[in-house]
Amino acid sequence: MRGKEKKIFCIEATVLLIALTTVPIVCSGEDPLPYWLEGTILDGNTRVLIIMNGNMTEGIDPNEYDVIISFDEALAIESDARAEYIEIYGVDPLANINPVTYNEVTWPTGNIAQEQNASPPEQEPDYIPSSYPSPHTINGKLILFVTLPINKWKPSSPIYCGMMSVLGFDAFHEYNGVYELSTFIDMSHWDADDVGFGWDLGGLLDDLAEDMRNWVNEPSEQNRIYVGWVSIENARWGLANLGDHFSVVNALAMYEIPPLGTIVTHEISHNFHADDHDWWWPLPMCVMHYLWVALHYKGWCSDCHNVIQSCIVGT
Ligand SMILES: [Zn+2]
Ligand SMILES: [Zn+2]
Repeated sequence: MRGKEKKIFCIEATVLLIALTTVPIVCSGEDPLPYWLEGTILDGNTRVLIIMNGNMTEGIDPNEYDVIISFDEALAIESDARAEYIEIYGVDPLANINPVTYNEVTWPTGNIAQEQNASPPEQEPDYIPSSYPSPHTINGKLILFVTLPINKWKPSSPIYCGMMSVLGFDAFHEYNGVYELSTFIDMSHWDADDVGFGWDLGGLLDDLAEDMRNWVNEPSEQNRIYVGWVSIENARWGLANLGDHFSVVNALAMYEIPPLGTIVTHEISHNFHADDHDWWWPLPMCVMHYLWVALHYKGWCSDCHNVIQSCIVGT
């Protein structure tokens, strides 16, 4: 197309685009409600690290963050923002979340989650092999980064994802040579806006690994594990790299009581080379079988335990 024609075409296209994008908003007469954490330091515009547990002496570079806050401080920010939002808009932004309790704190409080439609556990393998070296302890320590996308695909409550992740990650205390499990929430280093399709979590997992890969390249950082939390309706529960540092968990995993903590245990087990169990009989009591994930069981059979044990301490 030549210059002038092209210009006219562009103007027409622009007018059409403006019409298409503005008309529905004008017709509806209502603006969508803002994100409930907008205006707080948890809205994605500040480089925040939240310490769920553990200490800051190793592995973390404070220069990578604008603010480092505790679990209690983050919980207070969410509590205040939620109360204010309910007062202004009359809507509880966390109404659809089943409460979870961690360290004697229940979050969210004072609400009853709407019953979600139960869907059967997945039967497809939820991992993708990787050629990178797997994570392992350093001085008996593993670090979990609960990683939230800055903008698109973001789950409603960072603290909720952090609590669920700790509950799932704590199961790895049973391994010999694992002395300390530290968990942090990183809300500012994963940009997933460029991922167009989320249902199978594959694009999101690739994107997480791409954005965070340079954090695990050094031998001194091989004890880091990244669980990316996203919020996608009717999507699969989780997806992990087999023998690598990354997995993605869906905060909207559809089940009557979403076994989110157990999904975290399952996906991180894939990072330590544990495979899925076949769906059909026999059914060993093991978190690597989807039935036991659905039943919130976080233990392993002896086969999976042995695979993880040798991988987790780097032998
Ligand atoms: Zn699996
Ligand atoms: Zn097993």
